[in-house]
Amino acid sequence: MQPYLTPRPNKKRKLVKRSTISVLCIGISASLIWMFSPLSSASSQPSIPRDQQLTQSVASFDDMELSKPTALEYNGKVRKIAYITFDDGPSKYTEKLLDVLKQQNVQASFFMLGPNVLSHRDVVERMEKEGHYPGLHSMTHDHKTLYRSGGPSNFIKEFTEDQEIVESIVGYKPTLIRAPYGSAPQIGPTFRDAIVKAGFKMWDWTIDSNDWRFSNKPKSVVNEVRKQLSRNVEVLLFHEKQQTIDAMPEIINLLHSRGYELEAYHPDSHIVVNFQKDNRL
Ligand SMILES: [Zn+2]
Repeated sequence: MQPYLTPRPNKKRKLVKRSTISVLCIGISASLIWMFSPLSSASSQPSIPRDQQLTQSVASFDDMELSKPTALEYNGKVRKIAYITFDDGPSKYTEKLLDVLKQQNVQASFFMLGPNVLSHRDVVERMEKEGHYPGLHSMTHDHKTLYRSGGPSNFIKEFTEDQEIVESIVGYKPTLIRAPYGSAPQIGPTFRDAIVKAGFKMWDWTIDSNDWRFSNKPKSVVNEVRKQLSRNVEVLLFHEKQQTIDAMPEIINLLHSRGYELEAYHPDSHIVVNFQKDNRL
């Protein structure tokens, strides 16, 4: 039932490389369960504009108690992997982001809104060709619709629609979703059961760059990442903003200097990264 990524001919070389990595990780990725404590409280967060609410639930990252991830080890060598992710696109900034990533020879993951995909089909096509992962981020991004009035069935409907739109461009069904505003506290057991049943996986993040807060301050974005960088596997949350584009070369250098390999998400080496500690996702 679960849709899988269908390899395409032009991805063979990459898939071979990824297969090698997968082999290195045999016995690790399958059992790698990396979970998080739910946030203590989102209600204590100050009121912020609706378009900036995405990071509301993790504005206080200190509130989270992360369990230490299982080390990715092979022949005694620990691998450090960082997944750079961008939410809410594609947008007018996506081309520039892709240019920066290409210059740095880095692949990332994009969690995209269906309507934005429809209005930026060319950039999504390029994104896929250049080895980035086209993830899903719903149709409306509307908190009330997604988590209250709509319920789990509407939530799944939105992501299925988003998936079909992306599939119409990239030729396969991406299965990884990111819930708008993060999975805590809004994604309860009923939602999670529905997500599992629909064949999706769900990622939150381990590092919130808070980039949307730092207009014209790319250094602050870099510092925020540097401050939070600590685990062997990191999933970094960014948005498509000018300051994010400006900060990206330095962030990539920082990650490389700390020994991280930078990878796009790939379903064959899925790891569990959700605030709800649900290892089915
Ligand atoms: Zn979002």
